[in-house]
Amino acid sequence: MQSHKLSMKLYLDFDPCVECKEMMTELSSEEMLFADDETRADVSAKFLRHLTYNHNEVVKAVMSEVKSQQRSPEFDLYK
Ligand SMILES: [Zn+2]
Repeated sequence: MQSHKLSMKLYLDFDPCVECKEMMTELSSEEMLFADDETRADVSAKFLRHLTYNHNEVVKAVMSEVKSQQRSPEFDLYK
């Protein structure tokens, strides 16, 4: 699987819910730092899916950020 290593700091102007916090903790955990790309992509996708359904404003902000940086939407999320 092609994976672009791209770290992106998200400056999110929203109140993360409990699920968000759990996933952000998971994404920034030591375990995840050593996980393979596929695992990281899975967790990132899960988080994005949650954001899509629960925090649509955040997704819009992220996408416009990605667009403005001319980067692939495939990215890693770091707290
Ligand atoms: Zn949430």
